Amino acid sequence: LKEGLYCIGCGALMQVDQKNEAGYLPMSAMQKQLESDQLLCQRCFRLRHYNEIQPVSLTDDDFMKLLHQVSEDKALIVYVLDLFDFSGSTIPGLPRFVGDKNPIYVLGNKVDLLPKSLKDHKIKDWVRGRLKEEGIRPVDIDLTSAAHPANLDLILDKIDDLRSGRDVYVVGTTNVGKSTLINQIIKSKTGVQELITTSRFPGTTLDQIAIPLDDGQNLIDTPGIIKADQYAHQVDDKNLKYVLPKNEIKARTYQLNDEQTLFIGGLARFDLVASSSDQKTSATCYFENNLNIHRTKMAGASDFYDKHQGELLAPVPKKEAKGFVKTELKTKTEADLVFAGLGFITLPAGVTIRAYVPEGVSVFLRKAMI
Ligand code: GDP
Repeated sequence: LKEGLYCIGCGALMQVDQKNEAGYLPMSAMQKQLESDQLLCQRCFRLRHYNEIQPVSLTDDDFMKLLHQVSEDKALIVYVLDLFDFSGSTIPGLPRFVGDKNPIYVLGNKVDLLPKSLKDHKIKDWVRGRLKEEGIRPVDIDLTSAAHPANLDLILDKIDDLRSGRDVYVVGTTNVGKSTLINQIIKSKTGVQELITTSRFPGTTLDQIAIPLDDGQNLIDTPGIIKADQYAHQVDDKNLKYVLPKNEIKARTYQLNDEQTLFIGGLARFDLVASSSDQKTSATCYFENNLNIHRTKMAGASDFYDKHQGELLAPVPKKEAKGFVKTELKTKTEADLVFAGLGFITLPAGVTIRAYVPEGVSVFLRKAMI
């Protein structure tokens, strides 16, 4: 391995350590493949034998190169966003590179996690508003659930329509469900045998997977950019299920007095410091349904956490995670307090709150989504 072995599929330097990075192959499989003379990284192997793509991720620097490459091409950008972790799935710098030249078609994924009562057009308006704040004006927005895309044909027709003869680049941060979506596209285009036309983005070590379209253009899967502030990076793999929910999130509403605390499993803490009225404050929580929410008094909450973490308050962040940091905020209007990538709490106007999350996770207020 030291001399450097390269994948015959994508050309990436083979490695056995970093599962989610280019060129990965488990050691056991590496030995087998060396005997058979056909060295493919795990990603290309799965693609060739199962027509299935696996996510790879990359760093900011490589990603900027990739965006630059995209901006040189005449292309339709399909921008996949996670509706449940909206801020964690936006790509900084995207408008600067592709903003005015190449059209952007937005797919809001994981719509299955939002309450069924929420109307699609409301969600789309909300998405449009948030994107406008980031300087992005998409040509169109659709909602989907990559895991069970009922509207895949509609989306593919729309892509075909919007691209008018151009290449299509599918971009997204890790965990938005981009691989799941592309796998559905591959499945729906049965008989695509020549699928594995992986190649390099010029000037980078990144591989791309190009799915041939009817007119000789390609639908290109790009590696997902890692956003360090996603909560998914704070937990062990076995606890990812609490951070990447699979089912519709059930709202849980608490009527709180001032100086009460909610623990979100052992992963985050919310203090209602003060409200502007004598009435109780309604706090509606949207987190993975199996994540236990525990109410307690603010005084003594720290001791309570120390005593019950990992048991009553579980799961906890992985041991490599940094300590909890505190943020104090006040709502001006009805707003969501967002624990990036974990969930959010909808609060009325005029309340002062404190949020505690592991250092590196973003906490902020946004216009209420629901
Ligand atoms: P990628 O990193 O963007 O390629 O994301 P993946 O396709 O690997 O998906 C990340 C996680 O989100 C996985 O746990 C998927 O099962 C889950 N996921 C993907 N699409 C959906 C969806 O439409 N709904 C829900 N609830 N989960 C999804």
